This record gives sequence, structure tokens and C-alpha cells, in this order.
Amino acid sequence: MPEYIVLLGPPGAGKGTQAERLADQLGLVHVSSGDIFRENLKNETDLGKLAQGYMNRGELVPDDVTIAMIHERLSREDCEAGALLDGFPRTPAQAEALDEIVADLGGKVIAVPYIAVPQEVLVKRLSGRRTCPKCGRVYHIEYNPPRQEGICDDDSAELYQREDDKPETVRKRIQVYMEQTAPLISYYRDRQLLVEVDGTQPIEDITAQLIAVIKEKKSGVVS
Ligand SMILES: [Zn+2]
Repeated sequence: MPEYIVLLGPPGAGKGTQAERLADQLGLVHVSSGDIFRENLKNETDLGKLAQGYMNRGELVPDDVTIAMIHERLSREDCEAGALLDGFPRTPAQAEALDEIVADLGGKVIAVPYIAVPQEVLVKRLSGRRTCPKCGRVYHIEYNPPRQEGICDDDSAELYQREDDKPETVRKRIQVYMEQTAPLISYYRDRQLLVEVDGTQPIEDITAQLIAVIKEKKSGVVS
């Protein structure tokens, strides 16, 4: 039976990084909604063209288009044993749609790890980013600083803080995420699938804990 894992976490929690590490270490197929979307647009699939039409009119892409893209992706051969979902679902309605998709494929969602990080830690992480105006390289004042403070290693241009990375903007983005995601978290908590993982730990420890959570929920493993 195909088994699906939904990875959740606010912006700045390192969800993408963890998804890649889990894919590597557990041999899971990483299904990122952002990648699927870009792929459909790039290959000009029917769904991609449909989505593009809405975007050209400045409208939101409706849920059923996104859901159809996910369905198509999860139906491919490489997802026969299941997948690790990242970026989808975002709402309870999408979570219900996902339940239908995986039931259609004869499987189920077995675990929903949530990488939890306090808001102020997220603000600090996200607002520490600095960008080079010349080459676009992104640094972090604490985790990935340039050799000389405020100066790009590659071309000596003066780094700046993008509008998106300013603390006020970051704080707002996190609040929006929390408000939108709260119902999704309840959805999975009600179904006893949600497992909170402390996202303030070092990257390796978070991965180890996520692996433990997933292994425990996978069938055939007696805990
Ligand atoms: Zn540069």
C-alpha cells in the first residue's frame, strides 16, 4: 500500500531542506507543489496552460487545477510506494482532496510531521538574509555571512536587505501562514496524524527525529 507523508512547517523552518534530506536518507520521492507547478507551466501541459490562463488574467489558480496536478504527479510510477509531500495541502479542503487522491491510489497519509519554530526565531532567521544587487547571491548575517561584512564575496557589491526580508514583512508573512495553517493542523491533529518536531534543534537532529517519526508510522515496523 502506498504511504504518504505530509511535511508541514512555517517559512524559515527549513522544511525544503528537511524534505530533501528525508528523500535522500529514506529513499522517499519528494513531491514539492512548487516544483510540480513550475514543471506544468514549463512543459505547457493542459493543466499548465489552464493555470497560466488564470495567472495571465491576474487571478488565483483554482484549487481543482492544483489538485489535478498533484493527482497526476502522485499517479506516476516513481510514486508507487508513496511520497513525501511538501507545500500541499495548505487548507483543510485540499487535505480532504488529498485523502481522496491517495484513497484512489489505494494508499493513505500515515504521518504529518510539523516542524515547529517560535515566531521570533523565524523572524531572526528570515530577516538575517542579505542579497547582492549585482549577482543575486543570498547570504545570511549569522548562518552564511560574506567574508567581509556587507560585501559580496564574488563581486564586492554592497549587500542589501530585500523588502521581503525586512522584519515587519517577515512577521506579517509568518502571521498569515499561522492563521492559514491553523485549521490544517487541527485537521491532521483530529486524525491523530500530526507529530510536532522541535525545529530549533540542529538540522541533523531535526532530520533524525523526523526519520524516527516516519519509521514508527510506516507499516511493517513494530514499535
Ligand atoms: Zn555579488
